[in-house]
Formats: sequence, C-alpha cells, structure tokens
Amino acid sequence: MEYGPAPESRAEADAWLASRKLEQALFIDGSWRAGAGGATFEVTEPSTGRVIGQVAEASATDVDAAVAAARKALPGWQAAGGYARARYLYAIGRAMQRHARLLAVLESIDNGKPIRESRDVDVPLAIRHFLHHAGWAQSLEEEFPGQKGVGVAGQIIPWNFPLLMLAWKIAPALAAGCTVVLKPAEFTPLTAILFAEICERAGLPKGVVNIVHGGPAAGQAIVEHDDIDKIAFTGSSEVGKIIRKATAGTGKKLSLELGGKSAFIVFDDADLDSAVEGLVDGIWFNQGQVCCAGSRLLVQEDIAERFLAKVRARMGQLRLGDPLDKNTDIGPLVAPVQLERVKSMLTAGADQGAELWQPACALPEIGWYHLPVLATDVGTANILAQEEVFGPVLAAMSFRNTEDAIQLANNTRYGLAASVWSENVNLALHVAPQLKAGVVWINGTNMFDAACGFGGFRESGFGREGGREGMEGYLAPAATGRATKISPFAFPGGAGRQGAAEAGFIDQTPKLFIGGKQTRPDSGYSYPVLDTKGRVVGEAGMGNRKDIRDAVSAARGAKGWMSATAHNRAQVLFFLAENLSLRADDFALRITAVTGASAKAARAEVDASIERVFAAAGMADKFEGRVHEPPARAIALALNEPVGVLGIVAPDEQPLLGLVAMLAPALAMGNAVVAVPSPRSPLVATDLYQVFETSDLPAGSVNLVTGRGPELAAVLARHDDVDGLWCVADADTCRLVEAESEGNLKRVWTSGGFGVDWTGPEGSLRRFLSRAVEVKNVWVPYGD
Ligand code: NAD
Repeated sequence: MEYGPAPESRAEADAWLASRKLEQALFIDGSWRAGAGGATFEVTEPSTGRVIGQVAEASATDVDAAVAAARKALPGWQAAGGYARARYLYAIGRAMQRHARLLAVLESIDNGKPIRESRDVDVPLAIRHFLHHAGWAQSLEEEFPGQKGVGVAGQIIPWNFPLLMLAWKIAPALAAGCTVVLKPAEFTPLTAILFAEICERAGLPKGVVNIVHGGPAAGQAIVEHDDIDKIAFTGSSEVGKIIRKATAGTGKKLSLELGGKSAFIVFDDADLDSAVEGLVDGIWFNQGQVCCAGSRLLVQEDIAERFLAKVRARMGQLRLGDPLDKNTDIGPLVAPVQLERVKSMLTAGADQGAELWQPACALPEIGWYHLPVLATDVGTANILAQEEVFGPVLAAMSFRNTEDAIQLANNTRYGLAASVWSENVNLALHVAPQLKAGVVWINGTNMFDAACGFGGFRESGFGREGGREGMEGYLAPAATGRATKISPFAFPGGAGRQGAAEAGFIDQTPKLFIGGKQTRPDSGYSYPVLDTKGRVVGEAGMGNRKDIRDAVSAARGAKGWMSATAHNRAQVLFFLAENLSLRADDFALRITAVTGASAKAARAEVDASIERVFAAAGMADKFEGRVHEPPARAIALALNEPVGVLGIVAPDEQPLLGLVAMLAPALAMGNAVVAVPSPRSPLVATDLYQVFETSDLPAGSVNLVTGRGPELAAVLARHDDVDGLWCVADADTCRLVEAESEGNLKRVWTSGGFGVDWTGPEGSLRRFLSRAVEVKNVWVPYGD
C-alpha cells in the first residue's frame, strides 16, 4: 500500500525558534543569559543538516552562577513545603500539556525522532512525570518520614529523549525539595529551553531550576562543583565511570542511568506476530538510540528461521524519512558522529563474522539516516553482541532451552532491561527473576510509567528513576547522625607477625571464615590484636587479595541461600539470634577486653546486636515489593531482589553491632556476604564463627576475612563479581572504595568517613534493608 505524505506542521516551532535568542539561552536564577565570554555552539537538524542556531555555551563561571542560584533558592524551596511544591509541579505539568504539540515538534526537529514517537510517547510521559511527582511532593513527610531533599542537584542528560530525561530528573528533585542545575545534551537543547520558559510562566521561584547548555566541559564543571550535593547522570557507561571516579570521596549522592545491551527473548510458544511488532518497537524505536533497546534478539532455535523471515518481511515495511511525517517509522540518527559510530561498529561486526541484512529501501539524499539492520551469525563475543551500538541494529542469536536463554541473556556487562515472549506466563515469570536486568517486560517492550522505577544493574548503573525508588535518590536523612569522624587504624608492628604458635601465650589463632569453613590465611601471617592499653590479647589472620577472591567465589556459590524462601532465611536468622544470645556473656567479655568498653556498655552492644538480628529475621518475609498499576493495560511487579554478593567493611567502634547491623539485613534479603571485620577488634567477629556454624547458615552465605581493612576493602571494590559494597570506615578508605568501584559500577554505600549511629535513621534496619535490595520491575500486560 502506498502512503501519501502526512506532514505535521512546523510553523509554530519555526516561529518559536525565530523569536528566541538562542545565544542567550542559559536560564540562571530566573533570567536568560549569554555564556560568560559569549561562547556558543551550533545546533543542527538531523533530517536536513540545516543549522538551527547558535546556543549559549556555559563555562565553569556560568555553572558557578547556576549553582549559587540553586543554593540561594534552596532554603525557600524546602521551607515552601510539600503542598506548595506540588502545586508548582502540577502547574508545570498543565503548562506542558498546553504546549504539548510544540514540544513534540521541536523535539522531532532537534533530535530527528519520528513525530509519532515524540507526540505519543515522549511528551505525554514527560507530563505524567510532573503530575505524578506532584503527589510525592505533597505526601513527602508521610511517605518518607525523617527524610528531606538532599540539597542542590546537578543533573546531566543525553540527547536521545531530551524532554523525557529532563522530566525524569527535574520532577523528583523538585518534589523532594531539591533545587537543580540541569545540563541538556549539546545536540538537543531546544525543548529544555522551552521548558525553562514554562517554569518562568508557572512562576517557579528564581533559582529553583537552572538550565545550562554545553558539552562535556560544562558537564564536568557540574560534576566537580564543590557546592552540589547530588549528581544525577544519564548517558554512556564510559562517562558514568568517569563520574563515579570524580565524585569518589566528595560525599555527593550519585545516581547513574547508563547504557544497555538488552535481550529480547522469544520462546517457541510465543505469539510470533506480536513478538515481531514488539521487536520493531524494541529495537527500531527512536532509530535504536534507546538505552533499553532490545538490541539482542534471542530466539528459540526451532522457530528461529520462521521468526527471522517474519522480521525481515516487517523490516521491509518500515518507512524511513522525514521525522515530521506522521507515517514515518524511522528518522535520521542524531548527528554525523553517531552515524559514523554505527557504521564502524557494523564493519567491525561483519569482520568478526556477522551476516548483515538490510531491506531494499532508498535513503533520503540529505540527513543522517541509516537503514535498519538485522545481523545474524553473531557469535557471543562479537562486538554487536557485546557493545551498545545505539543505532538501528539488531543482533540475532538462537538458544536451545530455557537455561540457555537465561545464560545468553545474562552474558553481558550491562543489566538494564529485557523482554520475554511466551504465551506461557509461568515460564515467563520463571525466567524474569533470573535475568540480570532492572526492568523485564513480558510480552511487551518499552513500557514506562512515572510510578514504576526504571534503571539498571552492573554497568547499566545504579539508582532508579520514577516512583518511590526514584524519590529516594533525592532524599537524605533529616538528621544525619554523623557525629564522630573515624580515624584510620594503625596496624601494630607493621607487617604483622608470623604464626600464632610463635607468640607462645596464645593457644588459638582464629582463622578466616570462607565457604563455611575456618581456613588459614593465604599469607600464612597473622597480626597481634591489642587492647586499649597496648597489651596483646590475641592474634588474627592477615587476609589478602587471594582470600578475598576465594571468599567472593564461595559467596557466589551460595546459590541455596540466594534462592531460599524468605521464610527459610527468617528461620536461620532467628536461630542465629538465639545462638548469639546463648553466648551473650562471652561476647560482652570479649568486647570489654578488646575495646575497653564498660561491662554495661559491652552488654548493651551485645543485646542490641541480638535484637538487630532478631528484627532482621522478622523482616525477611515482610520487606517485600509492590504491585504498580500504571495507566496501561498492565501491572508492574516491583520485586525486591537481593543485590547479590555484598561486601561489608565494618567499623572499629562497636565492633559487634557495627558488623551485625549490616550483616543481618544483607542476609535477610538473600544476599551472600564477604565481610571485613574491624581491623582493631577482629576477635569479636571471629568469635561469631561458632555462632554461624551452629545456626544452619549455608556454606558461603557469610564469609569473613580479617586483616588490613583498607587493602581488603579496595580488593572488594575492584572485584567484578562483587555486586555491592557497604563501607563504614575512615574518609580515605571510603573515597578509595568509591573510586575503585568504577570497574563494574557496583552499588557502593559508604559512611563518608564518619561513624554510624545504629539507632538513628542512617543506621536503621529499614535503611539497610532497602540498601540490601535492587528493585526489579516486571511488567505483565493483560487483556487480549
Ligand atoms: P554521553 O555519556 O556521551 O553524554 C551524556 C551527557 O553527558 C551529555 O549531556 C554530555 O554532554 C555529558 N558529558 C559527556 N562527557 C562528560 C563528562 N566527562 N563529564 C560530565 N558530563 C559529560 O552519552 P550520549 O551519547 O549523549 O547518550 C547516549 C548514552 O546514554 C547511551 O549509552 C544510552 O544507553 C544512555 N542512556 C541511558 C538511559 C538510562 O536511563 N539508563 C537513558 C537514555 C540514555
């Protein structure tokens, strides 16, 4: 069938552009400014290559001014209260509704995305974010007791969904009571400029929203600014890692929404025609420039040929052309550099053995277009299977059975999204929890909603956008409880002393606890443990990198614990609490001996530890997920899944409670733990071995490695098979673990060099339970 052209008018957008002074587009402290020194950068239209205009470029001086404005506006914005903030959010959402078509046309002109997508997806979803978050603003105190906005948020976004990413960032920040400095991507500044106008017209107080334009240098000025409390970044994993390192030790809260290589899994009992339509949306939506694009097709081998034939036939029907034509399915890529990147990755993929297929279709003579591509014969190591192309390229592979599908799907360093197609919902719900992805769509793809958190695992970043989880990213305890600064521990006698027997006066040197067994440290060394008067009270094993590696593989192997029912985990923890209480007197004596605490204080610490384990046991089957009912014919199951293998670095102060208050919630939620106990008082932790051994804890679920805390913590931070790390230590160690975690972007929480009040909000059981889980949203559509 032939289609006639169905162009969307661009007259309003052109008139808006003609009336704007783009070279004065920095929106700082409620006024429009040129960049200091008058710098600008060029913005072009991807479908024609035409120059749209020169946009003001922010320098570090402009970023300074924007941060100062946000800081100045912060107290007033927080004091305004949730209801007032809700009304502003609502007013912004309503004003966006009034300008919806203009926003959509501008977005398509600027980014090249088909108008059908910007009009029907990007803009409505962006509006929904503001309206949804009005509710969070108003209910903040009730829903997040004891928490308040973290402060000034620096936000950096990419070009693929310029307005939607802005909404994902600004709506929760404003709801939480933060003020913001946002930098759009240098390719796509236009809708952010219109959004700033909307804020102005909505009467938003000056300085609450500041928008600065520019490229990496402006982004870097935000990331490195001393007066910013939170960095929220969406973009490539490469830049995400730079930001992880740059913010290490600064105390800035950080969320990273990064790239992906998401699997689109088609089982042989799927409705194949629906799956093909899903796939079109999954990989060719926005020309494949989508972080969660289903760029890896995994199809069951008995239907692979039939399915691929359908895919090719459908690809032949995709209409490529003017993004402002309502019939267009595929527009241009955003910029020549992106087009070159796609081409070079395809060349590399073909060199590595992939077979590339494209439909017969003429490319427009101008604009940065690329035909959709189907790559077959893609080996698992092929660049097209491993790297994010961020273009209209689908890499197809086949699988034999369910285990094979899960293994292939998880064979990636990313973990953003996945799509599972099967008419058997039991199978789909069996597979979904086993996929390393923050979002799983069953018989669907690209379903989003402001109420449902979106975000990833591993190199797809950490943190969620949307819903309750997204709000948490902009909140901090109203009272921090960070009173005491932790000082680094100086090891007695430098390198440690050889052999316990040699010491003569000690009849027992505790070993390490790895894989359910007490094992000798690989180094063969131990170190003397001194009391507060400098007397040797025992020795402890000097663990090293090899011991940590062994402990991590033991933890990874503790599959039984990770898949145990919450009821079973609760039983084990109750038993552990009981066994700890049987030995309460011994623990209290030990604490007094090594820390010098009074008998009363030591007993109180032991009692608090027992109580914490008991409480964690009680919550194991209660800290559950949620069911979201988004405005779509679908439910989203927000599952609280364990983070996985968790590293824990425990403090010297209150050595038993400090360890147990982290260990118990981690275990309660099904994590396997590698803990580094207090280096000053390791014997308190090693006394726990017998408690573990008598409490039915499966081998590998808890591993303890004593030794030089900072060194062991750094090994844990660098280890790619550790999924998360909690560290209560001195400032240098905290900075070190944050910086060293950039390799696999594990989820790191540190105390920032301060002690934790285990009875306060930051050290509470609930806080650690939520740190102990990753929320996975599993979308299940219903109806015919
Ligand atoms: P990018 O990382 O190059 O740029 C993203 C933003 O960071 C831009 O605003 C850019 O100017 C800025 N930036 C670049 N270098 C910087 C630096 N050193 N310091 C601070 N800021 C810097 O990514 P991109 O090419 O613009 O966007 C595509 C990427 O975004 C893809 O990897 C995609 O998967 C990802 N993405 C992720 C999500 C998600 O929610 N997970 C959503 C959309 C896009």
